[in-house]
Amino acid sequence: KYSKKLGQCFLRDINIVKKVVDAAQVNREDRVLEIGLGKGILTRELAERSKKVYVIELDRRLGPFAREITSKYENVEVVWGDALKVDFNTLDFNKVVANLPYQISSPITFKLLRYDFDVAVLMYQYEFAKRMMAKKGTGDYGRLSVAIQYYADVEFVCKVPPQAFFPRPKVYSAVVKITKKKPEDILPLEDSQFFENLLRALFQHKNKTVKRALLDSAHEIDLEEKELKGIIDSLDFNMKERVFKLGVEDIVRLSNLLYKKIKK
Ligand code: SAM
Repeated sequence: KYSKKLGQCFLRDINIVKKVVDAAQVNREDRVLEIGLGKGILTRELAERSKKVYVIELDRRLGPFAREITSKYENVEVVWGDALKVDFNTLDFNKVVANLPYQISSPITFKLLRYDFDVAVLMYQYEFAKRMMAKKGTGDYGRLSVAIQYYADVEFVCKVPPQAFFPRPKVYSAVVKITKKKPEDILPLEDSQFFENLLRALFQHKNKTVKRALLDSAHEIDLEEKELKGIIDSLDFNMKERVFKLGVEDIVRLSNLLYKKIKK
């Protein structure tokens, strides 16, 4: 019995498996974190090519597959539990490779971005991947694009059709490669919580002007519309621009300007 709730669509196309592992350039020095063992098709390929694989799996019914793999490969360690709850600091990895359970795409990606790693090659639903990679000014550009691109560079690897899995999902998937920015390349923020709140405020109205979007979501940044009006007019920022045309740097600049004004 496959669990839809756990996103159990297992890869059956070995060429896709190889493509995913190739994209991460996995070699004998690498310690890889995988999320979701399934029947272990990806785990085996990783075990063959890397030094160590930590694979997290929530569904204990997959125990027989785990035992089969750990008896063949000494470098595989299965961690039973919810990937959203496992403390990644206890796992010594430098790359992440996974065919993710789609229902946790967003929280697991943001969790990963808080850790140090060289590269992550991950499979998502195609529509989600497009939103992650979207550039400013395009229809798919939104809060997710900015929140991820603030921390990382996201590249497209390939599109994967439903028939690459069993059971078949209803939609296409995509493999993306995420490279974390070097600390010195991450734009400094006065306050990262404020930045997140501002993203929510702005992108609720992504087709409106920045000014209108801010006024309409003043509560998201803990302000009264009236207070905000005065502040907005005093800032050195083009308030007439449409929200979806703002790049990551613009939004960081706006966040810092606003934060300094408000907290003064
Ligand atoms: N890697 C396998 C493959 O490519 O065939 C399985 C991929 S399947 C899309 C996702 C796997 O993640 C399933 O085995 C599912 O049971 C597991 N899973 C779902 N939610 C999870 C969670 N919160 N933590 C860890 N594993 C989870």
